[in-house]
Amino acid sequence: TVGMISIDENGHVAAGTSTNGLNHKVPGRVGDSPIPGAGCYADNTVGGAVATGDGDVMMRFLPSFQVIESMRHGVSPTQAIEDALNRILKYYPTFNGALVAVSKDGYVGAACTGFSSFHYCVRSHSHQPTAVFSVKC
Ligand code: ASP
Repeated sequence: TVGMISIDENGHVAAGTSTNGLNHKVPGRVGDSPIPGAGCYADNTVGGAVATGDGDVMMRFLPSFQVIESMRHGVSPTQAIEDALNRILKYYPTFNGALVAVSKDGYVGAACTGFSSFHYCVRSHSHQPTAVFSVKC
């Protein structure tokens, strides 16, 4: 999956995901990517979040939506993602996935589980050229 969050000069937040359909794609599979709140979510008043990983699990938990709702109540992007992953792990201990989130003010966070590490890129006024970050899962 490629996930992207952008904030334009007017503060409009957009998020999107494009997926290969996970391994063993079967005709008719939906997965998380096209489901608002699962593969991605954006709210101009909060920020945006995108997800990658086991979409058949994530589509049941709407982790991107959960992250934005936690951030709405003041939780940092990284903590909000860890909370969302932990909720999934309670039911699916071998789940693998990762999320990136950015607040409307430009604070970026990421966390992952089930992989060894997860890489993401940030481009902003203070990150030019594009910066690559890595988090351990
Ligand atoms: N989340 C995607 C899916 O389940 C797969 C991926 O992130 O690579 O379709």
